[in-house]
Amino acid sequence: MVNGSPVLFRLRAPAKLSEVKGDFLGQDVEFRFSSACRCWYALAGVGLNTKPGKYTLHIVAGEISQSYTVAVSAAHYPLSTIKVAPAFVEPPKEVQPVIQAADVAKKQAFSTSDPKPLWSGRFLPPTATETSGVFGSARVYNGVKKSQHLGLDFRAGIGTPVHATNAGTVILARPLYFEGNCVMLDHGQGLVTVYMHLSEFKVKEGEKVAAGQLLALSGGTGRSTGPHLHFAVRWRGEYLNPATLLDLRPPEK
Ligand SMILES: [Zn+2]
Repeated sequence: MVNGSPVLFRLRAPAKLSEVKGDFLGQDVEFRFSSACRCWYALAGVGLNTKPGKYTLHIVAGEISQSYTVAVSAAHYPLSTIKVAPAFVEPPKEVQPVIQAADVAKKQAFSTSDPKPLWSGRFLPPTATETSGVFGSARVYNGVKKSQHLGLDFRAGIGTPVHATNAGTVILARPLYFEGNCVMLDHGQGLVTVYMHLSEFKVKEGEKVAAGQLLALSGGTGRSTGPHLHFAVRWRGEYLNPATLLDLRPPEK
């Protein structure tokens, strides 16, 4: 387990328990039972700024309360230099209202998450194409601004179908300044996935989508070095490594 990664906890406990709850890094962890693995499982996350060390996972299962020590190691994220249009590094004054409107829309989208998990089973890659940029790399834009790349990039020419990684609700489907045409899915319990730089929307805000459903066509809108899909995973306000989420093997229902 490293900083910036989603984590899947599995626990052996009787199916008949009414509730299994955990606490990890100050966040509630809600377990659910799978009859496939006859285990309880839950998704959680380790924020990018979590320092390496040993942390406690506290679990309450019926009458039983137990603590486990979980080690978090330091992830090694690379450095890369990027060239984009100057307007996206130092946005001109006249686009400030557009950026502010985008911030309001994002804030609103992120403020609502279904209390129930909407996802199940494995998380699917959003496109059938290769990845081109990893999560967590420190980026120097036009030699000026430094930020960290908080998503996973997929190679995708304009018009490549983009699919829902898992079941959820469309909480945002609109153009934003930096993200370009953007879709956000709520998967419940604070898990959100984000699809950026799209050319065409195939879903509307408020729509329920199934895993693998067509969401949009890829493009190069917003702050983009060229057509590609930027895929991001947010868990309770923290961006986590999408590649790790795609590697998880949650049990089937
Ligand atoms: Zn990206």
